[in-house]
Amino acid sequence: MKTQTALERFNAQMLKQALSWIIERSPRLGKPDIMCRIFGHDYKLKRKITPYLREIECKNCKREFGMHDELRCILPLDDELRSCNDDLVKLHGS
Ligand SMILES: [Zn+2]
Repeated sequence: MKTQTALERFNAQMLKQALSWIIERSPRLGKPDIMCRIFGHDYKLKRKITPYLREIECKNCKREFGMHDELRCILPLDDELRSCNDDLVKLHGS
């Protein structure tokens, strides 16, 4: 029974720790990127464009995204989207 409990405790958090241990020792894997691919991005707000549109950034891999609340979608923030957002900011004022 004890072995089972120990196995049960090997939950997502433990797995994450184990993986980051491995990744830290394998520089070629590209640490932030692989963590994001496995666990998803860890977003933080970067810039508010409109009440429903925001620019967000991943704390791990530093990739930027545009997040649209009404459409419920997240798009990679490329130059085109960024300049589009810049125009929207100008339109809406601050
Ligand atoms: Zn990320």
